[in-house]
Amino acid sequence: MAMLDNKIGLVLGVANKRSIAWACAKACAAEGARMAFTYQAERLKETVDELAGTLNDSLVVPCDVSEQETLDAAIDAVKQRYGRLDFIVHSIAFAPKEALEGEFVNTSRDAFRMALEISAYSLTQVARAALPLMTEGGSIVTMSYYGAEKVVMNYNVMGVAKSALESSTRYLAADLGKDNIRVNAISAGPINTLSARGVRGMGSLLGYVGERSPLKRNVTADEVGNTALFLISDLASGITGETIYVDCGYHIMGI
Ligand code: NDP
Repeated sequence: MAMLDNKIGLVLGVANKRSIAWACAKACAAEGARMAFTYQAERLKETVDELAGTLNDSLVVPCDVSEQETLDAAIDAVKQRYGRLDFIVHSIAFAPKEALEGEFVNTSRDAFRMALEISAYSLTQVARAALPLMTEGGSIVTMSYYGAEKVVMNYNVMGVAKSALESSTRYLAADLGKDNIRVNAISAGPINTLSARGVRGMGSLLGYVGERSPLKRNVTADEVGNTALFLISDLASGITGETIYVDCGYHIMGI
């Protein structure tokens, strides 16, 4: 029997085949999971439809977390189709481009609010909306980054949002443990995705991290996907509230 046979997942954050969310979905599908996918903007529907269409019994629904009614409709669609939910991959983030370059001190109120709302609050928002469907326990996995705890040039307000996300992971884990729902974050090393390209200087960051990490390379989306699979599976049944680094060891290095 495969690790996720009979398990139903909700995956937020597939923009294209390079998305970390897609790597997570592939790993879970290979172990028997069936999944619903959300897309934020109409322009992404075709790509998400195409990717999800390669998997068994998938569902594709719109959801922009800044519009609560679209999340509620997505959860309702999952309920109609599958009747319950066992895991969630939360792999979304956004900050206005101008907030991801220059000095953090210039972050506007609007950029701060938007980054925190979409990149951090949405984890709590999605967990709360999905809770009634997670009747048999489950696992929630979100994506963070090293910029949550150390200053990374140009990451700016997204670093603050990731700190809030990691903290939310712990508070949610404490709340939802009684329902046998585990909540964990993966702190992934830099990967060349659509979102990552929005951070100024991403190319040089990849080079820097690749040279200095213990494994002397950058992590791949598939390696992050495999860790998500582990966290979702019963192999991780004793792990909750944790932030696990999947960064080729970069974060352990001092001078
Ligand atoms: P992608 O661009 O592939 O995925 C980001 C997703 O977030 C997109 O699907 C995007 O949709 C979605 N999104 C943005 N705003 C909203 C919204 N309001 N409602 C719903 N969805 C929204 O990039 P990644 O795969 O790199 O990013 C996935 C996660 O991984 C993010 O949380 C990111 O911060 C994190 N991460 C990424 C790293 C990297 O180096 N790539 C490193 C560590 C963490 P749309 O395209 O329409 O905006």
